[in-house]
Amino acid sequence: MNNRKYLIAGNWKMNGTLENLNEISKIDILSQDYENEIALCLPNTIITKAHEKISHKKLKIGAQNCHHEVSGAYTGDISAKMLKDAGASIIIVGHSERRQFYNETNELVNMKATSVINAGLQTIICIGETEEEKNKGLTNHVVRNQLEKSMPSISNDQNTVFAYEPIWAIGTGKIPSLEDINAVHNELRSLISNIKGSEIAFKIRILYGGSVKPKNAKDIFDLEDVDGALVGGASLKAEDFMGIAKF
Ligand code: PEP
Repeated sequence: MNNRKYLIAGNWKMNGTLENLNEISKIDILSQDYENEIALCLPNTIITKAHEKISHKKLKIGAQNCHHEVSGAYTGDISAKMLKDAGASIIIVGHSERRQFYNETNELVNMKATSVINAGLQTIICIGETEEEKNKGLTNHVVRNQLEKSMPSISNDQNTVFAYEPIWAIGTGKIPSLEDINAVHNELRSLISNIKGSEIAFKIRILYGGSVKPKNAKDIFDLEDVDGALVGGASLKAEDFMGIAKF
């Protein structure tokens, strides 16, 4: 038995305007009844309003990406420090969509995660294999390499959370077998133990992400090495998201 506190984090991606603040309020109100930690990683444009609107009892407001520098001539970019200023307390880095569409490397993800931690925030570092890599039996090799290179030297169980997100499971309705999910999480935890020591590895949270829905959440959360979920599509509606968080 472990006493890691589950984290259920929603990733709204490029969805949501001020019209959706009511949905966030609903999630905020409902989340007060749950023991799990609950976060919503929102578009930057609504972070401040969402932060102002919530009760601050439970729900954390977060962002989905940041620049690795604190400030400077990076037109259109935003730093972890600025997101903190806007009301974010947790920031996703290295989501597969960023790695795929913006060519983000493990080294860049590491720098971004380091900047989040240095800003005093928590980071969720995403890793995961493609379908082709999975079919070639390379899953463990790929995710180990991503974790090793993306994890900042200053990471610990308080400032860092990992999300294992098989790319082929994101937004597709497909998920790996429960045995496969737990085996990957177990592999990642032993790698963290080798790098950071067993105490941090035992306490650090590893979320599963990829087509988590109310109907499959319980079985996934029952797995020994799964400590919650990163949820895309199903986090947009309070009913679905809280239908997941209730487990
Ligand atoms: C995600 O984008 O991180 C994700 C897990 O999406 P979905 O839940 O829609 O598969």
